[in-house]
Amino acid sequence: MRFITRFSVLLAPLCLTFAAAHAADAHWTYAGDQGPAHWGELGSALCASGTQQSPIDIETSQAQMHKVSAEDLKLHYGKQPLKLINNGHTIQATVADGDSLTFKGDEYRLLQFHFHTPSEHQFNHQAYPMEMHLVNQDKDGHLLVLGLMIKEGRENQELAHLLKQLPKEEGKKTELPAKFAPNLARLVPSASHHLFYNGSLTTPPCTEGVQWVLVARWTRTDRRP
Ligand SMILES: [Zn+2]
Repeated sequence: MRFITRFSVLLAPLCLTFAAAHAADAHWTYAGDQGPAHWGELGSALCASGTQQSPIDIETSQAQMHKVSAEDLKLHYGKQPLKLINNGHTIQATVADGDSLTFKGDEYRLLQFHFHTPSEHQFNHQAYPMEMHLVNQDKDGHLLVLGLMIKEGRENQELAHLLKQLPKEEGKKTELPAKFAPNLARLVPSASHHLFYNGSLTTPPCTEGVQWVLVARWTRTDRRP
């Protein structure tokens, strides 16, 4: 976890391609000699020297939160065929063409989603049990990651169904036809806080210029996620 507090800073977005974003995917881990503290030495300099690195720890009392107006963020998610793979770092689902979102008038296509346990982003120094990242890309290659903070509790049927089908063993792949896929629109809670900031990929090469939209539920006095 790299602690950088920085909110709603708008930058001229860097032009990324998704292929470039995954170029240095080879040798890194979440702990030990190849863990986050060493990512900078492992050929991903930005992970150590970047100024807009994700994830961040959000002080909810200081966060400049915006209730997202219908005009800012519109999800056009539904059920699409999925290709699921356990790649050793995470379980990732490649989404067939068709889902998209509109953020401040720009359209982004949903490319893939994956999970982190526990969450990468923290709220008041606390992680959530799980974080889901939905990676979207506009026609110029800019990335927008929708990060959903997930905790146990009121069961989300779509998510519970999906989690059961995720491949548990490294290297394992499965495919899910649309009719068995979750309706992704239903994963995003309607009554929630959304927080926007400009950050980076959270794994090597830690490329910056990524628009984040974090979705979590908390109240002003809530110290625990
Ligand atoms: Zn992620």
